Amino acid sequence: VEAQISAVPSTAGRTAFVLIVLRDVTQQHRVEQMRADFVANASHELRTPLASLLGFVETLQGPARNDPAAREKFLGIMRAQANRMSRLIDDLLSLSRIELNAHVRPGQSVELYPIVAHVADTLAPLARERGVELVLERAAERLTVLGDRDELIRVFENLVENAIKYGSSGGKVDITLAEAPRGAGRLAEAVVTVRDYGPGIASEHLPRLTERFYRVDVAQSREKGGTGLGLAIVKHILARHRGRLVIESEIGKGAAFTVRLDAVG
Ligand code: ADP
Repeated sequence: VEAQISAVPSTAGRTAFVLIVLRDVTQQHRVEQMRADFVANASHELRTPLASLLGFVETLQGPARNDPAAREKFLGIMRAQANRMSRLIDDLLSLSRIELNAHVRPGQSVELYPIVAHVADTLAPLARERGVELVLERAAERLTVLGDRDELIRVFENLVENAIKYGSSGGKVDITLAEAPRGAGRLAEAVVTVRDYGPGIASEHLPRLTERFYRVDVAQSREKGGTGLGLAIVKHILARHRGRLVIESEIGKGAAFTVRLDAVG
């Protein structure tokens, strides 16, 4: 608690009364701490691929100068590292843009099925590459929500991409669209579930998955090209849409990520 004490003089020059302002600064400190941690994490995440890039540049200018095979291999790694930095910067910019608009509720009327179908099409090549079968199931005809089309695409892209990346290769990913009624006078909910049948996630990680840079396995996430920001972006977009993300998983039983949004019309 921060206290500010000031004496308010009367016209005669004597103290008329004392004003004490008490302010709870715990929340403010917590926000500042989170911001500082975030900047430190982001810098670290950028510095790692950058250090590797610089290392390879030195090797290419020195010991590997006349070794075409090594050069080819190192350039491939450097390209991957540069791509990683670029993805990270894109994700950081997305997060800050979404946060900036956090208080504005998106108002476009958007049909969910075409969005999810578009995401499934976009990710079909990745699924094929990993031998994963993408199954889209539509249990509700028209599902319209108020939202931002591009941001909702982003939500489902992140979830389906994770399911393909972290689910079992040669397995299946189910994407289901359904409608959940919510009683008289209340809007129905649009419910989209992305389910994989991979190794699953231990329960102690579940509450932290949407934190920025939180990963269950850092090496695995890096190897799969992750930035650790995907689910944080999903959470922020859904908050802006007054929607919810529910994560259910058990070790050995895959994972289900469910998005719930108010349906309109
Ligand atoms: P990343 O860029 O690392 O994929 P995300 O924010 O999208 O970051 O996800 C955070 C972490 O959650 C991942 O690193 C991974 O450990 C875990 N995760 C996300 N989706 C799944 C899934 N479908 N199955 C298992 N683990 C998952």
